[in-house]
Amino acid sequence: MSYFEQFMKANQAYVALHGELNLPLKPKTRVAIVTCMDSRLHVAQALGLALGDAHILRNAGGRVTEDMIRSLVISQQQMGTREIVVLHHTDCGAQTFQNESFHEHLKNELGVDVSDQDFLPFQDVEESVREDMQLLRESPMIPDDVVISGAVYDVDTGSMREVY
Ligand SMILES: [Zn+2]
Repeated sequence: MSYFEQFMKANQAYVALHGELNLPLKPKTRVAIVTCMDSRLHVAQALGLALGDAHILRNAGGRVTEDMIRSLVISQQQMGTREIVVLHHTDCGAQTFQNESFHEHLKNELGVDVSDQDFLPFQDVEESVREDMQLLRESPMIPDDVVISGAVYDVDTGSMREVY
């Protein structure tokens, strides 16, 4: 039995809370947040965001990848966002492995050789935020006047500290 049935049921209750909103497609704050998929990070609650306020782009680690940049370009050039926040967090799953051992795991587990693929693990969470802010600053797809900030979220306390 999957959770899906439960989700469908929960959604029925949500519809009553949601009501008819007709919010505009373009995010109100003109901000895109690049962050991790971690289940302990409720981005909207942690940052005081409401529906329609911001784009929240998530992947494993909250890393700036080719596809993250694809989403940011659409966010900016189609939906008018002008600011980016890179938000990584403590105790991240991307800190729990290294490429080499993960490649080996995938070979054993799935029988695939993906030894040329970087799964973007990191050790130091502030360093990973800086790296990703730098990638955004260097990208020709991100205009120079876009404001780029970074922070680390603490999954134990819910607090956020800025990374420079
Ligand atoms: Zn994470």
